[in-house]
Amino acid sequence: MSDFEPVIVTIDGPSGVGKSTISRKVAEALGFTYLDTGAMYRAVAFFMKQQQVDISDGLAVTRGLDTIFLELIAPAGEGDDVGVRLNNEDISEHIRSPEISMLASRVSAIPEVRVKLTKLQQLIGSKTNIVAEGRDTGTVVFPSASFKFFLDAAAEARSLRRVRQLRARGEQANEKEILEMTITRDRNDSERAIAPLKRAEDAILIDTTCLSVEQVLARILEVIGLDR
Ligand code: C5P
Repeated sequence: MSDFEPVIVTIDGPSGVGKSTISRKVAEALGFTYLDTGAMYRAVAFFMKQQQVDISDGLAVTRGLDTIFLELIAPAGEGDDVGVRLNNEDISEHIRSPEISMLASRVSAIPEVRVKLTKLQQLIGSKTNIVAEGRDTGTVVFPSASFKFFLDAAAEARSLRRVRQLRARGEQANEKEILEMTITRDRNDSERAIAPLKRAEDAILIDTTCLSVEQVLARILEVIGLDR
């Protein structure tokens, strides 16, 4: 048996708060693996849509889940998202649309989905040092993580960031629609019965509304003890 104890950093918070950018940079600075748990929920949502699974049918969801094999693909370059291979097919370009975001939020409330993905995330975190990003990484997936952070920001600021991200990718984005989707998704994520979005009691809260990426990064690295 190996006595290697991976160091785990968790960064949770609502959508569009800057978690992905920050988590990727924290992971780079520490030399840790970046674990984007949202990409996994997005991949499951994509699968359910592609296979036309009725997500209100528990048995159909479980059957579908049993056939899923997921692998994360590290971001190719600066500013790129984590990709996903689903049953050996690269589905990265299909998982970041507003439609899949909303479906991921619905699919993530299904207990069987959470059980499967939580186990997979814990397996990854048992082998290597990681920066895990999501909604429940500090509360449910890695409750004994060494460092926990919770990022928050006003809904308007977060939805504007999403709009910019989508437009930068060449996609259409209506500001009012994205704000409504952001608020609905946060409500779904915060009010669901299992593993809702919430700050772990021992997580450090950082409001990113008026902070730059560099400022948030500096604060996190300072807490971890890696001043730059
Ligand atoms: O972080 P991202 O926006 O990619 O996550 C997509 C959706 O996946 C979230 O709205 C949430 O419903 C779900 N999710 C979750 N638990 C996580 C990560 C994501 O429920 N740890």
